[in-house]
Amino acid sequence: TDFGYEQVPVDEKVKRVGEVFHSVAQRYDLMNDLMSLGIHRMWKRFTVETAAARPGWRILDLAGGTGDLAARFARIVGDTGEVVLCDINASMLQVGRSRLIDEGLIGNIRYVQGNAERLPYPDNHFDLITIAFGLRNVTDKNAALASMLRVLKPGGKLLVLEFSHPTSAGFQKLYDFYSFKALPFMGRMVANDAESYRYLAESIRMHPDQETLKGMMETTGFERCDYFNLTGGIVALHRGYKL
Ligand code: SAM
Repeated sequence: TDFGYEQVPVDEKVKRVGEVFHSVAQRYDLMNDLMSLGIHRMWKRFTVETAAARPGWRILDLAGGTGDLAARFARIVGDTGEVVLCDINASMLQVGRSRLIDEGLIGNIRYVQGNAERLPYPDNHFDLITIAFGLRNVTDKNAALASMLRVLKPGGKLLVLEFSHPTSAGFQKLYDFYSFKALPFMGRMVANDAESYRYLAESIRMHPDQETLKGMMETTGFERCDYFNLTGGIVALHRGYKL
């Protein structure tokens, strides 16, 4: 079948994460707005500002899902640039692709089904890589970071936008209540799917905190690594360069 994008073999283990996103794909954008009270739009806007992308750039939006970041970058890079929206999940890619086409974004976006752990690109290929709310779901994060470093051009940068750990203990308590009680409840009400949202809360708790992720990026070989806490550390934007 020609889905209109390239397909790369995916192993069994990562398929399971795939099934979670397959079941939420259709409602993904609505749920994002509901669960974050719309704040994910600000986190993404901040990411695009920090990216400081230029016309002509080649950008990889990894685990790009329904294309929030890819859409913004496609407008910036113009006809001479290219944005690759890469995701392991065909359903998310399909929703993203039809949405971006509806927005009139055609010509400079490619849709690629692929695994972050083994990126199907040559060395030194991209000016910028973004991965928003995706690294958390990747089984072998170190392999994924190494793969990103490899395909990044020297001078290029990686931005990882991801849930992280609230910086104050009081806020952490409130947040735990929200993610372990309110989120699965909303998941059941809106998407008839509490399980996927329980998985979400669980995966957020397990994800490395700010300093740990920064250390992982440094160990991989990224340089000048730093991060910005957003919304009290609920989310952090990590930045690192290939020099
Ligand atoms: N970046 C989008 C956003 O910010 O709205 C989508 C984020 S969504 C929470 C996470 C995405 O990561 C899903 O679309 C999922 O299919 C994708 N994903 C999970 N594991 C992956 C992997 N190993 N390689 C590539 N994409 C992956």
